[in-house]
Amino acid sequence: MKNRSKFYKVGLFFILCTLIIAVPYKESKVNAASANFYDIPSSYWASQEIRYLSSRSIINGYQNSKGSYFAPERTVTRAQAAKMIVLAKGANEARVSERVFSDVSKGHWAAGWIQKAVQLNIFDGKKDGTFAPDEPLKRSQMAKIIVKAFGLTVENNEVEPFTDVYINHEFRPYVSTLYQLGITTGSGNQFNPGKHIKRSEFATFLTRTLNTSYRKIPSTDKQPNLETKPTQSAKTATVTADILNVRSGSSTNSRVIGQLSFGNIVNITFVDGGWARILYNDQVGYVSASYLNIGSTTSEAINLENQVIVLDAGHGGKDPGAIGHGMYEKDIVFEVVNLLEQKMKDTGAKVILTRSSDVYPSLNDRVKIANQNGADIFVSVHANAGPSTAHGTETYYDSSKNPQSAEGKKLAAEIQQQIVSLLGTRDRGVKDAEFLVITQTKMPSVLVELGFISNSDDAKKLAEQRSLFADAIYNGILAYYEKR
Ligand SMILES: [Zn+2]
Repeated sequence: MKNRSKFYKVGLFFILCTLIIAVPYKESKVNAASANFYDIPSSYWASQEIRYLSSRSIINGYQNSKGSYFAPERTVTRAQAAKMIVLAKGANEARVSERVFSDVSKGHWAAGWIQKAVQLNIFDGKKDGTFAPDEPLKRSQMAKIIVKAFGLTVENNEVEPFTDVYINHEFRPYVSTLYQLGITTGSGNQFNPGKHIKRSEFATFLTRTLNTSYRKIPSTDKQPNLETKPTQSAKTATVTADILNVRSGSSTNSRVIGQLSFGNIVNITFVDGGWARILYNDQVGYVSASYLNIGSTTSEAINLENQVIVLDAGHGGKDPGAIGHGMYEKDIVFEVVNLLEQKMKDTGAKVILTRSSDVYPSLNDRVKIANQNGADIFVSVHANAGPSTAHGTETYYDSSKNPQSAEGKKLAAEIQQQIVSLLGTRDRGVKDAEFLVITQTKMPSVLVELGFISNSDDAKKLAEQRSLFADAIYNGILAYYEKR
């Protein structure tokens, strides 16, 4: 009987424990369901992130007579941030036996959370011995706190992705780390370090920290809207001009802040409109991208050893192609294709040219070279002509007869985007047309019109920036293979 009673007590204890464990679990389920805050429609930009955090009871909503709401625009105070980060770390509040800071009494609602955050080395107090629990947290401070709390590291936190978090900015290593890990994308080229962080933003940062599938990893694509996709991360480039002016802005009207010389290596943070943003003596500067040999971040990663790539320099020999500004199309594209061939060979691909001198293979000859060698892709390079006002880049694929037109279209899009981005030419788009060399070839095939030889701005680029055109096509081909 005594034993039985003991058994009974143990059983009761077990049931009680189960209840104790089950009740909060059930409650958090309820929270998850009520994560349908009436002010956060599913179309809201951070709705997934808010749902993620609230379902884990790391962030809570508010209640009023209409139901529960999130108040995404409200700022986050230091005390609130301390509690949320301690929770996100899977820790609990500290037991408080005495005043935590001069302005945080033992009875303060967040005293235990603040004490824990300080114990975990996530938060520091202020120099004057206060904590300022009700002070709104700035975005820059949040960056530092998240990096420290979660021990986030990157190879090089010197990378400066935002114009307003410059190289010697106190918070730059933290912002740079978050950017490179895809936790922040900023807004435009700005991070707004001094702005107070909103609940929606805080939820996004914390969710991306906890769950990598929410992250927005910097991409090398051109970014018209940086809110969703950041600019590419830094890579190095070598100066190819004897003297290269470094300017304060991306225009020849901008002030010259210094000079680089041949062979100098620079870190570039992005290239747009033909201008590369670089770090120069610890400050941001701009140089013309046409005088840089830009290393590709992807070249080592991608191996095209089993690929056959046929490159077709348009025209040749008796056929000069378009003529303008003292140049022949056949010479421009021949040089671009030869520069491209050198780069492509570094990937291990077998590269075949349709012509290796100033001769004219017929269009059918070019097709035969591609088909008979079992080419995996075919890229024909041309320059356009038209009225002097017409300008820009366009890239063609064929959907009428080419059996791989869907792939051709993808390849065209990558090359088009790279040229427009690196050269700053007008984007005339990816187009579908029945040029013989892309209709009769059996592999993904594109025909690139680099720019207009008949337009003075484009002609200048076609004359002076052939290496950059080759870089752009190369980047486009690699981007295509990376996504395939
Ligand atoms: Zn042509």
